[in-house]
Amino acid sequence: MGPAPAVNYHFDNNSAGGCRDYNCGGRCYDGHSGTDFGIARGTNVLAGADGTVIATNNGCANTGYVGNPCGGRCGNYVQLQHSDGSRTIYCHMELNSLAVSRGQRVRCGQTLGRSASSGSSSGPHLHFGWRRSASAASQDSYRGRCTSAPGAWVDQNAYPESPAATCQCVPSPETCDGRDNDCDGRVDDGLSRSCYSGPMGTSGRGVCRAGTQTCAAGRWGACSGEVTPRAESCNRIDDDCDGAIDDMACAMDAGVGDAGRDAAVDARSDSGGGAARDAGPDARDDAHDAGGADEDAAVDEDAEFDDVSLEDDADVAPDRVDVSAGCGCRTTPAHTSAHRWWLVLAVAAALGGRRRVRQNR
Ligand SMILES: [Zn+2]
Repeated sequence: MGPAPAVNYHFDNNSAGGCRDYNCGGRCYDGHSGTDFGIARGTNVLAGADGTVIATNNGCANTGYVGNPCGGRCGNYVQLQHSDGSRTIYCHMELNSLAVSRGQRVRCGQTLGRSASSGSSSGPHLHFGWRRSASAASQDSYRGRCTSAPGAWVDQNAYPESPAATCQCVPSPETCDGRDNDCDGRVDDGLSRSCYSGPMGTSGRGVCRAGTQTCAAGRWGACSGEVTPRAESCNRIDDDCDGAIDDMACAMDAGVGDAGRDAAVDARSDSGGGAARDAGPDARDDAHDAGGADEDAAVDEDAEFDDVSLEDDADVAPDRVDVSAGCGCRTTPAHTSAHRWWLVLAVAAALGGRRRVRQNR
């Protein structure tokens, strides 16, 4: 594009009558719905941004007049739809000069046709109109203190000049917004980011880890691959991601396991002949001098006594063990000791009792 064309008339921001341009000046006329750029006939008219051609009109004479209804007063024209939903229209173009057709994708700066004075026009110029959506009214494409419009130009230049190169992309970090922010020709650049829906502070602990989500068409996709806290189980893994492995899960499992084993031993004991029951009160009496009994056993001439195997003793013990087991939790060292102590005592008592029984026979 050559030197920027002069602006003949700006948009009228005063709906109450009279005209007021975006800078509160009078460079407009009452009811003007766009910006008129004064350009010689046959000048290339370029697209102001990437878009799609949604309407065209051709067939109007190159020299129109104010009030000429051809093309809805716009003469020969091209209308574009842009990716943000806004629309632009280029009016009063030269007959049979249109270089694009309806449905065609165009790039910013692409030639749409040539200028003339078709439709409601008193001389060669380009009427440029802008609206923010299909249903919105036309707005001023400039921003300023006397317009509510946000402005459409990348660089609108100082009042009252034409905008500077409108197709120049101003790079900024790419964000997930459906636009080519960093001017590399790609929209959203396949942006991805870490995501995590579990409670704060649990990501990266135990089994928990963040996932990834990818931007497509200006929206973040689903979070893929994340692992969030689950119920703790006895598996040497921090399932609930609280920084502790297994928490109480194993203690509970262990309790259940011990009870199961005890039950099994009890069953074995009961079917094993009931030696402990045989021992009776005597066994308890002998517990007092269990040590002595052991000494006696060591020196006992009764060879049969040596036949009492440890396995037999184990059969005897469990009923006693269950007494201590009755106090519940057995995971602390103190209880473990007590458990063992009771076992030793029970064995000694059983030995004594057995021997006593044997002796009494
Ligand atoms: Zn105009």
